[in-house]
Amino acid sequence: YVKAANKNNYAVYDEQMELLASQRMQLEQDLNSAVDNQQLEVIFQPMFDVKSNRIVCAEALLRWQHPEKGQIMPDVFIPIAEESGLIQHIGHWVLREVCRLAVLQMSEVGFVKVAVNISPKQFMQPDFVSGLAQILNETGFPAEYLELEITERLIFDELAATSVVMQKLADLGVSIAIDDFGIGYATLNDLKRFPVKELKFDRSFIKEIRRSHDDQTMIRALADMAHQMGMKVVAEGVEDLPSLDLLKAAGCDLVQGFVYHEAMSMTSLVRLLDQQNTQPNSNNKYPSA
Ligand code: C2E
Ligand code: MG
Ligand code: MG
Ligand code: MG
Repeated sequence: YVKAANKNNYAVYDEQMELLASQRMQLEQDLNSAVDNQQLEVIFQPMFDVKSNRIVCAEALLRWQHPEKGQIMPDVFIPIAEESGLIQHIGHWVLREVCRLAVLQMSEVGFVKVAVNISPKQFMQPDFVSGLAQILNETGFPAEYLELEITERLIFDELAATSVVMQKLADLGVSIAIDDFGIGYATLNDLKRFPVKELKFDRSFIKEIRRSHDDQTMIRALADMAHQMGMKVVAEGVEDLPSLDLLKAAGCDLVQGFVYHEAMSMTSLVRLLDQQNTQPNSNNKYPSA
């Protein structure tokens, strides 16, 4: 009896697995033509300098408008793109699109930095740096306004190779930020030898900061060390004012999160930048505590 019941469970399980697998295969197939069919869109989330309360950077975030399924988030399709190898094509398109949009729309109000997420596979592509140099060249986007976000996992896995690529990028004038920092792979000591400009603390830290005194202490200590190493620290995923004040007090330099703005079109970002130029205090919703 027990055996039969188990067998049944397995059958149900198998069916679900098959369904998931076929849905995934379908998504992968759709994703294959998403770039060419102009279904991908890049939107931008501002990052604020806590001292000046001004937007100094914006992170490019990818969205997929699926013709039948509607909007699909990157947490769903980026892993598929990475595993299928489509990330090379998609990642290249993202870089080009970001630079193109920035030159087209931001030139008039003045550039701020733009941060682009780069998958490990894309970063380790042999022609990654030359491809990027070509994009910068062709679009005319100034390299010093481009920042690449990579995860500590990449550094941990590919220490030697990563360092060569990073040095080439630094030579190009492009800066590097470590995304989702603090979930356990890299230490500040590992980062010493790299030309890293910024640390972005993982959202899991930020979420706890109101409740956990230990997390406050840890963020303050990490921020102090990062500053001594010449890096800036970014708090991302900040959703409320009390957290914002705690993070400022703990020494975070930049803040990104729904407390300020969600990601938006380049057109909307440029409007905000324009407002900030003409009314210098317009972003000053949250004067420092
Ligand atoms: P990430 O690089 O850590 O990006 C930050 C994520 O946090 C974004 O999610 C953003 O919308 C979200 N976020 C920002 N502020 C808040 C907040 O206050 N509360 C909450 N709950 N969330 C907030 P998104 O856009 O869904 O992107 C998820 C992840 O997908 C990104 O995490 C990044 O790892 C990846 N991704 C996005 N675009 C690209 C891309 O163009 N290329 C690659 N390789 N990965 C990308
Ligand atoms: Mg990121
Ligand atoms: Mg992150
Ligand atoms: Mg993430």
